[in-house]
Amino acid sequence: MTSDLDGRTALVTGGAGGIGLACVHALAAAGAKVHVVDLDGEKAEAAAGAVGGWAHAADLTDPAAVDGLPAEVDILVNNAGIQHVAPLEDFPPERFTRIQALMVTAPFLLIRRALPGMYARGWGRIVNMSSVHGLRASPFKAAYVAAKHGLEGLSKVAALEGAEHGVTSNCVSPGYVRTPLVDGQIDAQAAEHGIPRADVVAEVLLKRAAIKKLIEPGDVASLVTWLCSPHAGHVTGASIPLDGGWTAA
Ligand code: NAD
Repeated sequence: MTSDLDGRTALVTGGAGGIGLACVHALAAAGAKVHVVDLDGEKAEAAAGAVGGWAHAADLTDPAAVDGLPAEVDILVNNAGIQHVAPLEDFPPERFTRIQALMVTAPFLLIRRALPGMYARGWGRIVNMSSVHGLRASPFKAAYVAAKHGLEGLSKVAALEGAEHGVTSNCVSPGYVRTPLVDGQIDAQAAEHGIPRADVVAEVLLKRAAIKKLIEPGDVASLVTWLCSPHAGHVTGASIPLDGGWTAA
């Protein structure tokens, strides 16, 4: 393990599944006590129970629910996210609004709640789960691409304001990771194109990636944990692609 997070407290949104769950395990393994926040209360309980942390059932699109979450955390991982795929002219406005609420407004509210405590303690780590879609666009993902680009901007502002207080803020920007979110997209594309799931992975999802393999959640969690380590104190305002060469092409 590259970091020692003994005595640190972390909060991971969307921590009950996929990349968030891997982050919960990796941060706990590095010594942090972890608050697991998720819409799915049962899975959050299971995730928190497995690492001796705390579970919080919350719909992060509701600002009142965000207000009920702990503010005194040393590490904030803004990870919860959803996808909706549709052409712009058919994109449901309420779905667009919900995606911005979850993936831009909730991280903003959580950051502004956590910063005073981080500033007082002179140390903080904010890690925002962006995506290759925070750096590049794809058709039919208007809400997701807009939200991830917004998150990238928010993360940079937090980096500039937090620097003098010992607080870093960075984005991790993965390509396709093997999680339930991507499983759903594979099913949808297989049905739409009438092709096997394996062909969707190779020919649709990984078309732009140089490495033709889905990324594992643990690999993303490992980078998140490194960003919280003492060695990463000068890394701030960055967006680190973890994408098998997707953005290099
Ligand atoms: P996932 O669907 O496996 O997990 C997301 C978690 O967020 C779930 O546990 C879900 O219950 C929770 N969640 C959803 N809506 C919520 C809400 N309103 N309030 C609280 N919690 C809510 O997704 P994942 O693939 O692990 O994605 C995690 C993050 O990583 C997202 O921000 C996603 O955009 C990003 N990402 C994923 C991939 C990928 O390929 N899987 C690639 C790049 C970026």
